[in-house]
Amino acid sequence: MEEKFVLDAIRSGWVAPLGPDVDGFEVELAERVGASYGVALVSGTAALHLALLSHGIGAGDVVLTATMTFAATANAICYTGAQPYFIDSDASGNISTALLEEAAERLVAESRPVKAIVAVDLLGKVCNYAEIERIAARFGMVVIADAAESLGATRGGKAAGSFGDTAIVSFNGNKIMTTSGGGMLLTGTSAIANRARYLATQARRPVAHYEHTDIGYNYRMSNLLAAMGRAQLLRLDEMLSKRRRHRETYRDFFAGVQGVEIFGALDDQEDNCWLTSVVVDSELSGFTAQALAGHMDAENIETRPLWKPMHLQPVFAGAERLVDGTSERLFKTGLALPSGSALTAEEFSRVIEHLSFFLASRN
Ligand SMILES: *Cc1c(COP(=O)(O)O)cnc(C)c1O
Repeated sequence: MEEKFVLDAIRSGWVAPLGPDVDGFEVELAERVGASYGVALVSGTAALHLALLSHGIGAGDVVLTATMTFAATANAICYTGAQPYFIDSDASGNISTALLEEAAERLVAESRPVKAIVAVDLLGKVCNYAEIERIAARFGMVVIADAAESLGATRGGKAAGSFGDTAIVSFNGNKIMTTSGGGMLLTGTSAIANRARYLATQARRPVAHYEHTDIGYNYRMSNLLAAMGRAQLLRLDEMLSKRRRHRETYRDFFAGVQGVEIFGALDDQEDNCWLTSVVVDSELSGFTAQALAGHMDAENIETRPLWKPMHLQPVFAGAERLVDGTSERLFKTGLALPSGSALTAEEFSRVIEHLSFFLASRN
């Protein structure tokens, strides 16, 4: 289907940047998540950057964000000249709302400008936005939802990408659906969507000689990639259900294994099951996450630690943080397992088989 959609786009002559597939993709994806406006962009990172800029975040501002995330979240904050302030996770892996509120109180007590929260839906699980929005309202902060990993997930029946003042999703190759590279900004506010679209197209004022009053970016998604996105969106439910089946198999498999828990998932029906991970309590299980990873690696099966917290990253050594050790513990004891929707039944059986061999070798 992707091949046909992209070929059709080439044959229609819309190989130049914008075109009908960009417009169509924006409408269809926004509709799917229940947002009013979508702006298709070159990456999720670009979407985060423009979300922050469009809400007026810039030099001198402090932005509260999760320490347990992919670097793109923090990088985008830095692009604007603002400073990221890292907040630890709660047991779910998502930002701790207790620590978030405490950090906001501290900043306000120091009369520091705290403008925004960037919350991250870790590994496909939607944050507690009811609580995040209560805190944001208390301190007059904007909420930006980094839903790069959670497209297709819901919380209380409401779709990821529809939370916060503005949300972003990613279509990078490793995400739940892909345009090979891309992202989208989603918002309920037309002024924000317009501002983002304007900044993404070199900030050209609508006059023939291109008048410029702002520094702009070349961040729009190309029409060919949007055509691919439209095809992927039609298959999103099928890809979600494949990942959900993997999750259920892992859950059944580990149900009888002491000291190994499926990480983070509140509810497999609401989670998009993007990346199934486990947390290993080595005192109960008798083995570490690293030992399990080593065994799988020897069999050429890729596993990964969870995201290394940003406050432990050398590049953010000087950044402010409010941490209590939760994300560091998750980083040490967590392991992401093969979860892709392109895994064949044979490949997935091989993963389960080698997990069994590993457990048997421990008894
Ligand atoms: C992938 C990802 C991004 C960035 O998306 P790109 O499309 O790769 O730029 C941002 N935040 C999180 C949490 C991600 O996982």
